Amino acid sequence: MKTISLSILIFLTVFRAYSQQAAPAPTPELYSAQTLTDLKSIQQAALQSDYAYKQVAYLANNIGPRLSGSPQAARAVEYVAAEMRKLGLEVRLEKIMVPHWVRGEERGELTQFEGMAPGTVQKIVLAALGGSVATPKEGITAEIVVVGSFAELAQLGKEKLNGRIVLFNNRFNREMAVSGQWGAAYGQAVAYRFAGAGAAAPFGALAALVRSAGSSENRLAHTGAMGYPDGVTKIPTAAVSNEDADLIEYLAKQGPVKIHLTLTPQTLPDTESYNVIGDLKGSEKPDEVVIVSGHLDSWDLGRGAIDDGSGVAAAMQTANILKQLNLRPKRTVRVIAWMNEENGGRGNTAYAADEAANMAKHFAAIEMDLGAGHPLGLVFAGKDEALPFFNPITNALLSQGAFQVLTQASVGSDTAPLTAKGVPSFAPLSDARFYFDYHHTAADTIDKVDPKALAENASVLAVLSYALANLQQPLPR
Ligand SMILES: [Zn+2]
Repeated sequence: MKTISLSILIFLTVFRAYSQQAAPAPTPELYSAQTLTDLKSIQQAALQSDYAYKQVAYLANNIGPRLSGSPQAARAVEYVAAEMRKLGLEVRLEKIMVPHWVRGEERGELTQFEGMAPGTVQKIVLAALGGSVATPKEGITAEIVVVGSFAELAQLGKEKLNGRIVLFNNRFNREMAVSGQWGAAYGQAVAYRFAGAGAAAPFGALAALVRSAGSSENRLAHTGAMGYPDGVTKIPTAAVSNEDADLIEYLAKQGPVKIHLTLTPQTLPDTESYNVIGDLKGSEKPDEVVIVSGHLDSWDLGRGAIDDGSGVAAAMQTANILKQLNLRPKRTVRVIAWMNEENGGRGNTAYAADEAANMAKHFAAIEMDLGAGHPLGLVFAGKDEALPFFNPITNALLSQGAFQVLTQASVGSDTAPLTAKGVPSFAPLSDARFYFDYHHTAADTIDKVDPKALAENASVLAVLSYALANLQQPLPR
C-alpha cells in the first residue's frame, strides 16, 4: 500500500512540475470581475421588475392579436418602436412586404352520421389554417374520410378520396411534450397541418381537415401556417379541435359522416410592414452585435401573449435593465421585434439578406419564442468549443435554477438564417411542457403568462446578452 501511495505521490509531483513547466500563459479571462458583478445586479434587477409583464400585457390586451398585415400589427410596430426610443435605443424600422391573410367566417356542421336525430346537426369546432383558400360562400357538403397518416392517404388513393373531405387525424403526442420533447412532438403534428391540403388535393379531395397540432383539452382549434405546393389545386383547409376529431373518427367507424364546411378567408395583396430594431450602442466594439429578440406578429385567434408577446417583452427588458442600472455594454446590444414569424418568415429573411455582408460582426443572436415557462437554462446552437464560455453565465443564473445548457442545431425560426451563417445562437430553455395547450389557440391570453416565470426568462435574456456583449474573447464559430 505504502509503495503504491509513494509512487503515486512521486508521479503527481513529477506531473505537477511538468505541467507547471509546460503550462501555456494563463488562460485569458472570459469576463472581467466587474462584468461578473454586473451580471448578478442585472439578474436581481430583472427578477424584481414587472417591466416585461407590463409590456406583454399591453401588447396582448391593449393592442390584441397581431397577424401580419393587420391594423394591430401596424399599431404594435409603432408602439414597440416608441417604447424602444423611450429606453434611449437607436431605433430603425426595416421595411418588409408581408402576406395579408384574413380569417372569414368558419363553420363546420355534421349533416349525416349514425343515429342523427332528424333535422339536427352536430357542430364541429374548427379554424381555417393560415393561407387557406375559401370554400364557396354557401359552403361545401361532402363525406369525411379519416386517415392517420400520409401513407394511409396514398393507400386509399383517388377512388376512395375523390369528391370527399379528408381528415388527417394524427394525434399531438402530449406524453412526448410533457416528458420534455415538446419540439419533437410539435414537429410531428405540424407536418400534417402544413402539408395536409397539398397531399390530399391530387387525389381529388375537396378540402382537408387536420386534427389540431396542439395539446388543448378544451375543445379549441389550433391554427397555424400551411402551404400549397406548386402546381397542386388549392383546396380549403382547417384545423379541427382534438375533441371534434375524436368524434368524427368515432362516427366514421359506424358509417358515412358528412360535413357542411364553410370557410371564407381571403388573401389580400401583400402589405408593407417592419422589423423593429433598437440598438444600445456598444462602448468599445459598437460594430459587433448581440441580438436579443422575439416576434411581434401573432396568430389571430388569441392575443399573442405567450406567442410571442412575452418574447418581445423579455427582449425589451434587456435594454430596460441595462438603462436602469446605467450599464453600457462593450458590444452593441440589438433588440429586435421580428415581423411575420408566423406565416411567412419575411422578417428574418429580409434581415439576413440585408445583413449578409455583415455576418462576421454578428457576435451572437438570442431569440425567445417558446412561451414564458420557468427557464431551466440556455439552448445553444453553435460550436461545442464555445460551451466552456457559458459557465460563468450559468453560474450567475444558478440561484434561479437556470443552469443547464442544451445544444440544438437551431434555436428558433427568426435566428435560424443567422445560425446557418455561423452566428452563435441562443434561446432560454423555458419549460414548454404545457405550452401547446394554448399555443395558436383562442386561449393564448395574458393569464397564461406567469409574471414570475416571465421575469425569470427576462433575467436569462438580460444576463446572457450583457455577458456576450462584454465577453473578452471571440466565441469559437
Ligand atoms: Zn412564435
